[in-house]
Amino acid sequence: MFDKNQVGLLKDQFREGEKWVIIPHLNPDGDAIGASLAFGLLLDDLGIENTVIVPDSAPDFLSFLPGMDRVLVGKKHQEQADRLISEGDVVLLLDHNDIKRSGNLSEAVVKHSGQKIMIDHHPDPVITPNEALMFSRVSASSSCELSYEIICQLGFKDRITSDIATVLMAGMITDTGAFSYNCSNDNFFINIAGLLEHGADKDLIIDKIYNQYSEDRMRLVGYLINQKMEVFPEIRTAIVSLNWSEMHKYNFKKGDSEGVVNMPLSIKGIDLSVFISVRDDKTKLSFRSKGNFPANKIASTYFSGGGHLNAAGGSSDLSVEDTVKYFKSLFSDIKKLIDSTEL
Ligand code: 5GP
Ligand code: MN
Repeated sequence: MFDKNQVGLLKDQFREGEKWVIIPHLNPDGDAIGASLAFGLLLDDLGIENTVIVPDSAPDFLSFLPGMDRVLVGKKHQEQADRLISEGDVVLLLDHNDIKRSGNLSEAVVKHSGQKIMIDHHPDPVITPNEALMFSRVSASSSCELSYEIICQLGFKDRITSDIATVLMAGMITDTGAFSYNCSNDNFFINIAGLLEHGADKDLIIDKIYNQYSEDRMRLVGYLINQKMEVFPEIRTAIVSLNWSEMHKYNFKKGDSEGVVNMPLSIKGIDLSVFISVRDDKTKLSFRSKGNFPANKIASTYFSGGGHLNAAGGSSDLSVEDTVKYFKSLFSDIKKLIDSTEL
């Protein structure tokens, strides 16, 4: 439960005639999109004008989610997006802990003089309570789970339609790897049960997100695990990398590498998995870890990134191959980190 006064302040923002802009983080995932769509659908129902603006496009496998058809992509409509943000009365930032994570929309968000709201579960939020109404809980599975709790606390439980329940459950499923991590707290399953009662379509979510891959994607995954995975038992780490020419060869589409980073973690003795690939002309790193292995510390110390203890990301200005080499040069530092951490 969040503080009653703070929820009261949030409720005061739901005013007819005001315009909301809802923004998930850059490279939005199921959680960021699910929470954004949930608030968009709720505001529609309340008769409050709103626009969901994604900094850049979401992967195709999320396109089945109710409300996706009206999402504005900032990268494709930058001027319109910036104008909507500057004219908005309320800006709701979802699943991010720092305005920088709004990517190409962050400049407009920083300039925006109206109320900002943040709902998020990443560690160390950078936005201060003075700048935004902040709802942050690091122990939550997802921003969608927090959004569900907040919507109930606001007194809008009866307004949760099956569409809203479905988008929220989609984020709770994707941020927990389909109920496998970050969901050991019993409240998680109570919230899942609540969403089922509201008509969330769990089977549709699982089918659309996990069982609709292309043949190209399946062959790409086989290639990456067979040919590109490097395993370093001494530092409990595995690396998988994917470069442009390989992406081209396998007709890569956004979302095709989804989940690959988790795969090496099922090898006994591997506690950190690193996936290095290309995104928007940058080399992007994804980190996943088990136990106390601090994926976010490695992302923030060496790759200008951040995230959760067990799921983090960062970037590099080097090529994919040189980033792999650079990562290998960090082995002794990682060994020291392991030796000083109780895994
Ligand atoms: P992914 O590997 O799925 O892109 O990201 C995993 C987690 O790390 C997500 O929670 C995401 O928000 C965070 N993350 C990914 N990339 C970055 C980054 O460049 N900077 C920061 N601060 N967090 C990131
Ligand atoms: Mn999330």
